[in-house]
Amino acid sequence: MADDPPVTPYDKPAGGWDALRSSLHALREQDVVLKGAGTLLRTNQPTGFDCPGCAWPDRNAHSSFEFCENGVKAVANEATARRVTREFFAEHPVAWLAQQDDHFLEAQGRLTEPMAYDAASDRYVPIGWNDAFARIAAALHALPSPDAAVFYTSGRTSNEAAFLYQLFVREFGTNNLPDCSNMCHEPSGVALTEQLGSGKGSVTLDDFEQCDAIFIFGQNPGTNHPRMLGELRSAAKRGCRIVAFNPLRERGLERFTNPQSPAEMFGGGSTRIATHYYQPRIGGDLAVATAIAKVVVERDAVDHAFIAAHVDGFDALAASLRATGWDALERESGLTRKQLEEAAQVYVDSRATILCWGMGITQHRRSVATIQMLANVLLLRGNIGRPGAGPCPVRGHSNVQGDRTMGIYEQPSDAFLDHLGAAFDFAPPRAHGFDTVAAIEAMHDGRAAVFFAMGGNFAAATPDSARVHAALQRCALTVQVSTKLNRSHVVHGRDALILPCLGRTEIDLQAGGPQAVTVEDSMSMVHLSSGMNPPASEHLLSEPAIVARLAAATLPRSRTRWAWLVEDYDRIRDRIAQVVDGFDDFNARVRRPGGFHLRHPGRDRRFPTPSGRAQLFAHPLDEGSMATPAPAPFTLMTVRAHDQYNTTIYGLDDRYRGVHGLRRVCFISPADLQRHGLADGQHVDITSVWHAADGALEERTVSDFRLIAYDIPDGCLASYFPETNALVPLDHHAERARTPASKAIPVRLSPRAPA
Ligand code: SF4
Repeated sequence: MADDPPVTPYDKPAGGWDALRSSLHALREQDVVLKGAGTLLRTNQPTGFDCPGCAWPDRNAHSSFEFCENGVKAVANEATARRVTREFFAEHPVAWLAQQDDHFLEAQGRLTEPMAYDAASDRYVPIGWNDAFARIAAALHALPSPDAAVFYTSGRTSNEAAFLYQLFVREFGTNNLPDCSNMCHEPSGVALTEQLGSGKGSVTLDDFEQCDAIFIFGQNPGTNHPRMLGELRSAAKRGCRIVAFNPLRERGLERFTNPQSPAEMFGGGSTRIATHYYQPRIGGDLAVATAIAKVVVERDAVDHAFIAAHVDGFDALAASLRATGWDALERESGLTRKQLEEAAQVYVDSRATILCWGMGITQHRRSVATIQMLANVLLLRGNIGRPGAGPCPVRGHSNVQGDRTMGIYEQPSDAFLDHLGAAFDFAPPRAHGFDTVAAIEAMHDGRAAVFFAMGGNFAAATPDSARVHAALQRCALTVQVSTKLNRSHVVHGRDALILPCLGRTEIDLQAGGPQAVTVEDSMSMVHLSSGMNPPASEHLLSEPAIVARLAAATLPRSRTRWAWLVEDYDRIRDRIAQVVDGFDDFNARVRRPGGFHLRHPGRDRRFPTPSGRAQLFAHPLDEGSMATPAPAPFTLMTVRAHDQYNTTIYGLDDRYRGVHGLRRVCFISPADLQRHGLADGQHVDITSVWHAADGALEERTVSDFRLIAYDIPDGCLASYFPETNALVPLDHHAERARTPASKAIPVRLSPRAPA
């Protein structure tokens, strides 16, 4: 459209002065330049708070600036001077708020007091905390069964809050504990637990100093884990070879200027990151990993001693790899044999390799198979339990891994439930609960009627938006524990409550004084986090306090001393030490500088699988979804813009891709524009097309997206979420792990008449 802002390719390195400018802009935008600057100096510091952004770990040797540009945006948005007051809600009917975009809702500021939905006026009105808890308790007790309630968790929830939350939910009588892991690294957990005996990565930051090759699959660290660029830069400078596989050329994987390097900042310097950059087609990673494994086997670059001592399944895998032809590998990967062999040779030449991956690997139908093939690649050359080597699934939310460790899981182990029941003298429910997809189905068909969310933005983060919104609206009650206004407050049940909580940057004062919480990062480091700013409002409660007061209101006969536990969070940690493996002497160990590491058994070459050995798995290319032809000409992947963290839209720019002031965009190759008679800048509707479980052809459409010519493989498209989550069918998810397959959606484009 004539008035569309221009798209200007970005030719500078990632980071650099633009990162500083953008950070300053974020502080100004939230009107917290001075307060924000002070708060940032405590970010990721030993006595400070853990950045509420991603789960990238902190270095123990702390500089004063242990944060990145997107960490600044996360902190500024939480420390913002803006407030969503009762007057704001009185002025704005929910129907009007629902018409505003996600950026608008986020930009309104911090919630200040508990609010209840008033259907008569279609507005949220103030409610007291006790009345709110009584209302929830009444709704829960009105249910035919505890399994008619769903308790969702976002990955920002602290360990202490998560542990109390799962305890409350299980004392209430259900395991319906879906969480954001279901939508991100669930396939990593399923794949690695079966193969190595643990669902976590085994790598630590120290390994990044000892490896001589780093392979990065389906990840965009420049936007999603920016401080990872610091580790990659150091590795690149000492000659480590970095191999990136991503359909999109991501600036952060190409070149980086470290904002903390005066030489680079004032000398105009930068560091090349990837030594090898390949753009497979969307969904081509299983074929890429298979090709690398094939080369290792066929060139006999296998660590046979390691295999003999620790690994089963070699013969079956080797046979499958030898039987896999290069034609299929080229077709399925979208890369040439030459490229695949070149990458494999980097791996074969490496003494110690780290394999990293993100959502570009997990949000696919065959993601479990792909991750197991990546782990096969590592095991074939003994790249686990060796310094500088191992699997590194890079988690999203700052404590998503910790929440799972604390028991936020719809499929808890019997051992965990045994410990929990013994520690709190009750019989936990044993039947597995709803994961995210099952919870949506249950709310949609009426089997679940109360939805409680500890943080997050369920209505925007989930796939198949129309179906999810209908499911939430069918609930008798929806409750959101939140810091900021978002989509999930305006897509609500017949009754609805908003419970505002403290942020990570704020002082959490309890009877026992200021309290610290703990988090577990992507590399299994558990450390303290203490807020420093006065709360945004006197009416806020901490997450643990919210759970304790809700439990007291809902479970009057509970033998758990809820109020006592939240007077001093050391008491919660003492109970965690009783129940969760690896947390003995928790309070003492977490007070050591930097906290403590939950050691992965693979680092000692121990594999707690049923056989006690690691397992290789063959995954032929022509199995499962790859054999089913896509019913549409394109495959679309949902991505984040640079001014975004999950569904939180900080701004409308995506600097590294040259996009400014736009959200509804669709990246497409110049060849496909020509092939399909389309033009750069043209506006289209995007329609997903798929065969539902009953075989019927189904469609979903999102409207008015601007096409942007971009370096992306033919047949592949990319657009931002949450705007395109509506295209992802609910039953389009990863086999076994049920993670929405948001990175591979069959779609077609329909030109729109010029406005
Ligand atoms: S890398 Fe992640 S955790 Fe670290 S400062 Fe940036 S956003 Fe925060």
